[in-house]
Amino acid sequence: MDADVIVVGGGPAGSTAAREIASRGHRVLLLDRADFPRDKACGGGVSMKTAALLPLDLSPVTERIATGVILGDPSTRMIPRDHDQPILYLTQRRRLDALLLDAAREAGVDIREGQHVQAVRRDAEGTYEVVARRDDTLTTYRARVVVGADGANSVVARDLGFGPPEERGVALEGNLPCPNGVPPWLEHRVLISFATVPGGYGWLFPKGDHVNVGVGGLVEAGPGLRTELARFTGLFGWDVEELRDVRATRCRSGAAAGAWRAAVRL
Ligand SMILES: Cc1cc2nc3c(=O)[nH]c(=O)nc-3n(C[C@H](O)[C@H](O)[C@H](O)COP(=O)(O)OP(=O)(O)OC[C@H]3O[C@@H](n4cnc5c(N)ncnc54)[C@H](O)[C@@H]3O)c2cc1C
Repeated sequence: MDADVIVVGGGPAGSTAAREIASRGHRVLLLDRADFPRDKACGGGVSMKTAALLPLDLSPVTERIATGVILGDPSTRMIPRDHDQPILYLTQRRRLDALLLDAAREAGVDIREGQHVQAVRRDAEGTYEVVARRDDTLTTYRARVVVGADGANSVVARDLGFGPPEERGVALEGNLPCPNGVPPWLEHRVLISFATVPGGYGWLFPKGDHVNVGVGGLVEAGPGLRTELARFTGLFGWDVEELRDVRATRCRSGAAAGAWRAAVRL
């Protein structure tokens, strides 16, 4: 056996599971296809509830603290709701995920980056075989337990019979550089607007030197998403061409999609 437990995926779920299991004395091997630090399409907002669960100080990777939310956008109404307490830590996933992975490493997890898992199978004795590729090299790792933390398009879920999610979503985001600072009205707030993509939403999440701007919705919104991102960005007087690190992603949207379809039927 290569380990007691193999964790596939080194995002927040995988690195947290790996750290917790290793800290209980088990041998843990974590495989991720990426070389860290790596980025991922995400607003990078960590709720207070989540932060309280982590035995880690997030301040080294916190770029801003939101104490308020603006609901809506200039095409509708902008309704600010401010609090006297923090509601969200704002970070970047490449920084947060690297911090969490380092904590797992310190707990004794054997982390192998650049290992793209191709297949997972279980042999007659109940041992899991995880086949990973780096360049032209295939390596098979074995353990009695596998944790599938490889995200919304999980190979582990596919191969172990959990199937694809019923509903899929799509999102497109980019970073607007703010060399002169984030606009004052957004400095300590995030903005969420449900008046964008049908069944989805648009968001502005301010970070240290940029604003993360995105739109997302049901999978059928995919072909129009670039237009929606340009329209949403333009509502604030910005040009979509100014966005950097533009990324699209396919994600799960089960509950949100179900709720939206139910609302449309009503
Ligand atoms: C557009 C968008 C905005 C979001 N904004 C927020 C937000 O502001 N706040 C919030 O709390 N949540 C947000 N989310 C949700 C959040 O991103 C996810 O809940 C979170 O990333 C899930 O973590 P995870 O560890 O399960 O998976 P992931 O973060 O997706 O990590 C999966 C890991 O598995 C690796 N992997 C995948 N396939 C393989 C493979 N075959 N072999 C090896 N490794 C593999 C990947 O490289 C990755 O490192 C957002 C999601 C989207 C799509």
